[in-house]
Amino acid sequence: MNEDMLNRIGKQAKIKLQANKKLKEIYREKGITQCEARLSGCMQYFGLSWYHRHKRVFYYDKPDLLSSFNQTILVCANCHPKLEQDRKLTETKFEQLRGMEIYRHEGKSNKKKNNKSTRK
Ligand SMILES: [Zn+2]
Repeated sequence: MNEDMLNRIGKQAKIKLQANKKLKEIYREKGITQCEARLSGCMQYFGLSWYHRHKRVFYYDKPDLLSSFNQTILVCANCHPKLEQDRKLTETKFEQLRGMEIYRHEGKSNKKKNNKSTRK
């Protein structure tokens, strides 16, 4: 592992930390304090963490979506791995709990860097 890689990992960790802080506030405001997935064997309050709508790589270039209420649900230690193993279930749960995916950029600058949509 070289220094550049370490830096990149450090940066992602920092982004994640900041996102978690923001999410904590959002969820507290909404009064969501227990697992939302409620799959069988749900432990409600145990090992709660945020489960994201997409895989982590999806957020690399959209870090502000990491702390979006629409992109996350609060899940327990039982439900988290279950959702992770089941893409379809993840989609169903998110649609149930959050509705359609909102794809709004909450950031200030709306400038598009590396615009790859040069399709014809
Ligand atoms: Zn649960």
